[in-house]
Amino acid sequence: PQVFSYQWDTPKYKGSTSFSTGLYIDGKFVDGVNKTTIDVINPATGKLITSISEATEKVVDLAVAAGQKAFETVWGLNTPGAKRAEALWSLAQAMERHKEELAAIESLDNGKTYDWALGTDVSFAIDVIKYFAGWADKVTGQTIETDERKLSYTRHEPIGVVGQIIPWNFPLLMWSWKIGPALATGNTVVLKPSEFTPLTAIRMCEIFSETSIPAGVVNVVTGYGNTAGAAISAHPNIGKVAFTGSTLVGRKIMEAAAKSNLKTVTLELGGKSPNIIFDDADLDQAVSWAAHGIFWNHGQACCAGSRIFVQAGIYDEFVKRFAEKARSIKVGDPFGEGTDQGPQVSQIQYDRIMGYIDSGKQDGATVLTGGDRHGTEGYFINPTIFTDVKPDMKIVQEEIFGPVGVVIKFEDAEDVIRQANDTVYGLAAAVFTQDINRAIQTAHKLQAGTAWINCVNQLHAQVPFGGYKQSGIGRELGEYALANYTNVKAVHVNLGHRW
Ligand code: NAD
Repeated sequence: PQVFSYQWDTPKYKGSTSFSTGLYIDGKFVDGVNKTTIDVINPATGKLITSISEATEKVVDLAVAAGQKAFETVWGLNTPGAKRAEALWSLAQAMERHKEELAAIESLDNGKTYDWALGTDVSFAIDVIKYFAGWADKVTGQTIETDERKLSYTRHEPIGVVGQIIPWNFPLLMWSWKIGPALATGNTVVLKPSEFTPLTAIRMCEIFSETSIPAGVVNVVTGYGNTAGAAISAHPNIGKVAFTGSTLVGRKIMEAAAKSNLKTVTLELGGKSPNIIFDDADLDQAVSWAAHGIFWNHGQACCAGSRIFVQAGIYDEFVKRFAEKARSIKVGDPFGEGTDQGPQVSQIQYDRIMGYIDSGKQDGATVLTGGDRHGTEGYFINPTIFTDVKPDMKIVQEEIFGPVGVVIKFEDAEDVIRQANDTVYGLAAAVFTQDINRAIQTAHKLQAGTAWINCVNQLHAQVPFGGYKQSGIGRELGEYALANYTNVKAVHVNLGHRW
């Protein structure tokens, strides 16, 4: 296999990495069938980082076969939960040893700052693997009392080979959300990272050799969505597919699953999350959290608080302080000292976001701050806030997936709840108030899989995450995630009932 080497010598991180690349099947790196490659671009410069092997449909077949063999021999029901727990724990430990290196690769590939990559993406990914290691020997069914002449019980059995398709905004973190519960419950995996950010998933393949996870348990196919991704979702020998990405592609995955073998599907999709600030909120805190809500990860977060509703009494003061906060965000080199925000992930995303900014301007919204490119190279966009928006504007309705928020004035609770729920999405929502009744009552009325009170973007390995409405199906993280990865078998034992 080809080896990728890179050195960092920046104020934040000095170090180097060198690792095998290729398609990772049955514990080995192989080249693509036609030896075609995908270019990986550095979003901070627009220049080529490296080229990686492209997985086509044939490669997906090989990966599924490797997964099936591992499931039947070294994993699945053949491996006690305690052994799987040990294996997952050894994975978390190996990741700990490569923490800085993984953060640097993530930062290079995705454009997020090195500090965030280290402190959130990599650290949280390790937490998730540890958390699911803890579950591996605790996956149990129930005994169910029916009749004294009968014993009835359930088993939670692994599904087999599961397909996992992940996006570019949190590459290693989404990898962990997928791999953790799948392996804990005894499944084997064919995983496809995003073609825009494949490097941490590739790096992890070699790191598997430092763990006790057997070959074939995780297979990684780096390819495009409409070829490798489509082959996973349509594959007859994949029993379940888990997807994180856009609602558009989520629909295609469900369709492919329906048309092939009716594999079960879980989806984590887009959002247009409301952030509601009542006039009794701690204003300083509301401003800080609201900025974190929309500008975290350069706005490339599915749960981004992109619609900020502010009550009339504090609207003017909030808007003034929020604009100051946005202007204080330091945009620049992801490895630079004090950088808060790096580039958007790709030229495509940059163009898409600038298109939304233009549409907001053309529709007559006011640009309170930002609204333009930052610098002259790479895909940097200044933190942008729109005011004077109307409910039917594209920037109010559609997911922008960039550092662009809209601020909307509201009068009372009833009015804001109606507006907040006026969206096809339902991933997350936040409410800021010092009134506990109002906080909880509002949180309960919001149609969202996650409701934050006096905070935003809080995610924990132990707490489920997922969407209402068109934001998704199923839950990841927490005990809830396990249900996505098992088949429930009911067993009836006759204790003397004669026929
Ligand atoms: P995307 O849907 O374009 O791609 C996601 C993944 O799907 C990639 O690996 C891609 O190669 C693959 N894919 C594309 N077409 C496919 C097809 N026809 N069949 C199978 N796979 C296919 O999304 P993206 O641009 O990578 O990510 C941004 C989107 O993801 C945003 O809309 C965002 O809201 C969403 N997202 C949601 C969550 C969540 O947890 N709900 C998390 C992150 C991102």
